[in-house]
Amino acid sequence: MESVRLTFRVNRKDISYLRYTIESYDGMGIVKTLDPKSALIEVKTAPGCEETVRQLITAVQREDGIPVEEFRSRIPLSRGFYIATMGCQMNEYDSEYLGSKLREMGFTPVDAPEKADLVILNTCTVREKADQKAFSLLGRVSGIKLGRPEMVLGMAGCLAQREGERLFKRFPQLDFVIGPRELGNIGTLLDDVSYHRQKRTATRLDHPPLTSCSRNLPNEKITAYISIMQGCNNFCAYCIVPYVRGREISRSPEDILEEARQLIANGTKEITLLGQNVNSYFWGEGDNSCDFSCLLNELNGLKGLLRLRFTTSHPKDLSDDLIRRFGELDKLCPHIHLPFQAGANEVLRRMKRGYTREHYMSLVEKLRDAAPEMGITSDVMVGFPGESRKHFEETLDLVDRVQFDSLFSFKYSDREGTLASHMENKVGEEEKARRLAVLQDLQNTITLKKNRRLEKRELPVLIEGHNKKGTQLMGRTGSNKIVNLACPIRYIGSIVNVSIQRGYLHSLLGKPLDFSASINNSRE
Ligand code: SAM
Ligand code: SF4
Repeated sequence: MESVRLTFRVNRKDISYLRYTIESYDGMGIVKTLDPKSALIEVKTAPGCEETVRQLITAVQREDGIPVEEFRSRIPLSRGFYIATMGCQMNEYDSEYLGSKLREMGFTPVDAPEKADLVILNTCTVREKADQKAFSLLGRVSGIKLGRPEMVLGMAGCLAQREGERLFKRFPQLDFVIGPRELGNIGTLLDDVSYHRQKRTATRLDHPPLTSCSRNLPNEKITAYISIMQGCNNFCAYCIVPYVRGREISRSPEDILEEARQLIANGTKEITLLGQNVNSYFWGEGDNSCDFSCLLNELNGLKGLLRLRFTTSHPKDLSDDLIRRFGELDKLCPHIHLPFQAGANEVLRRMKRGYTREHYMSLVEKLRDAAPEMGITSDVMVGFPGESRKHFEETLDLVDRVQFDSLFSFKYSDREGTLASHMENKVGEEEKARRLAVLQDLQNTITLKKNRRLEKRELPVLIEGHNKKGTQLMGRTGSNKIVNLACPIRYIGSIVNVSIQRGYLHSLLGKPLDFSASINNSRE
């Protein structure tokens, strides 16, 4: 006979008591906890007995003072979720956080939006292209939902924060909009959407940073991110981030260390700390305070961790103290991502970046003194309002002098509400495209030359897993270069000495040397 399933939300500590009460009441129903950490339980009962179960639960509520709420979700019990992530590493981290929260609530991940009961698009809005990509995906998933009206569809991330309720008009299939600072409230929001059947917008920016949730990632992840802070106070003239991610706020070192320990216990060997400007990380007061160098020291001491990285550093706040850590902390990888944005002082001034090209180049020198193998990567944009050809030549000159390992380069894109969007002398699209092509040509030549120079060198490589094609394994050097190599899979998660055979534009080809020297700091 078919059974009926009812779902209730209870406090975790009351689950056993409720289970005992229901199961011992004439065998009224079988209770299942949807997830050990979940506050949701499922009661399976015979058709016709639903009301008796509800009355029993109401009696428990009244007589024992135990709060119980029935969850009449339109999301079915075999709840599959799908998250599409666009944009930066911060969004990747936020999607993992969302995924962990959803798993705690009894959801399971599925591999396509067509199979999901809950679809969330985690979006970016840093450039116009990102908006277009997100809108086009939202249109496609709205189409899927037309054929499956029971599906719950949400939009998260920076574009969601920027557009808010306006999105419901343009995309009537959308059920909720949630900003990056509200992700911790996803549970309540889903209740409202699925139980009360309301459209919901959660876009407050004054929330504290995300608190830890268990990083119960589906698979062992050799490399993982931890967000150490949210928001940004810098208001660079072109950038929308401070408007959509709010003011800068740091997480406590205890919270970060606990998250790191969980990841390490689950097999993670390399952690990348994330923040828009990690150099301004700060927690606490007086003797009990902890700045970014102090946080790095603490993490460097974690047993079982092999490598530590961070991104992004702001040139105006990169201190000598932090630069010194590269030579001192054994797990800190010799790589820095240090965006310079433009090579001309006049443009840097109008961008409100707070440093000069001379200061930037002095930092590069200090970094290479502290760690000669240092990989230096950067972000740059072309066609900022008022950027002349001469200014652009100065960007090319800086790229040539610094000799970056690689470069993310963008065409300036107007973002509504930013200072730069009101500036005059906008550079035409064609000219921006021309400058970008010249810049990328120059950088490609430099990257290829630097990668070729590594041929015949022996480098320690952390083996992360299979490469994209699945034909070989892949790993990274300390300086963050991708190495493809044939290597037994038991070395995934170990640092292996590798001889570099060929240097290409986007990767290196390596051959593992003596495995006896490999390091695998097993979990503690
Ligand atoms: N916080 C980081 C920093 O200050 O370097 C970067 C954050 S931003 C999400 C990543 C990169 O996007 C920036 O370094 C910048 O090069 C680029 N970017 C930001 N706003 C842009 C805009 N309006 N047009 C083009 N590129 C932009
Ligand atoms: Fe944007 Fe500047 Fe903040 Fe980076 S530092 S997120 S570029 S405002």
